[in-house]
Amino acid sequence: MQSRCTSRILSGASRLLSIRCNSSSCWKCGLSLRNKPFYLFCGCSYNVLLPPYADDYFAVFGIARSLEIETRQLTARFRELQNLIHPDKFSQKCQNERIHSAQQSAFVNRAYKTLLDPLSRGLYLLAEHGIAITEGEINTDIDFMSEMMELNELVADAASNEDVKQLFTTVMDKMQLCWQSAVKAHSTGDMDEVRSSLVHMRYYKTIQERLTEKTSDHLAEHISTSK
Ligand SMILES: [Zn+2]
Repeated sequence: MQSRCTSRILSGASRLLSIRCNSSSCWKCGLSLRNKPFYLFCGCSYNVLLPPYADDYFAVFGIARSLEIETRQLTARFRELQNLIHPDKFSQKCQNERIHSAQQSAFVNRAYKTLLDPLSRGLYLLAEHGIAITEGEINTDIDFMSEMMELNELVADAASNEDVKQLFTTVMDKMQLCWQSAVKAHSTGDMDEVRSSLVHMRYYKTIQERLTEKTSDHLAEHISTSK
């Protein structure tokens, strides 16, 4: 069954796509960089730092485009990159390179955050396939929506930390199932099913966020009453 979601799901990923910088040659020597999937430095005799550019976020970290990735490898590469482009290393360089290091650093951060979180990685991949979820879409899966209503009521009624914890585990398990189904669908190229699974996952994530808020409220209450 095709699921539709109200909104926010892909707006983040679309925004991320729009930050690509299309500089196709080195600002210092003019060398064409058109065929490189990702670069930081030109590689010419000046070897200057360039503004952010990448064909896709996966290329930034040299990992295969997939829903499932090796996050340890992602993090290791992220640290290597940040080490190369950190603005501190460019404080004595020309203005162009100082600006580029700040831009590169922010770009690599965004790419890392997007790929590290499974849901946002999935949404990014969907957006790359041109699959978007637009504002105002309505979820037509009645069974799923009634389950959401029930869960939302349970969250509202959760009175103790124990209740919250239990609900959190339930929601995590459901997210895990959505993720497994998205991965399976992606392996067979069924992008509609990937979309549907990620839409559901996003709903669960919203509930998870409500539970997290509730936990901090409880914690704040506990702190204020124990003063
Ligand atoms: Zn150059």
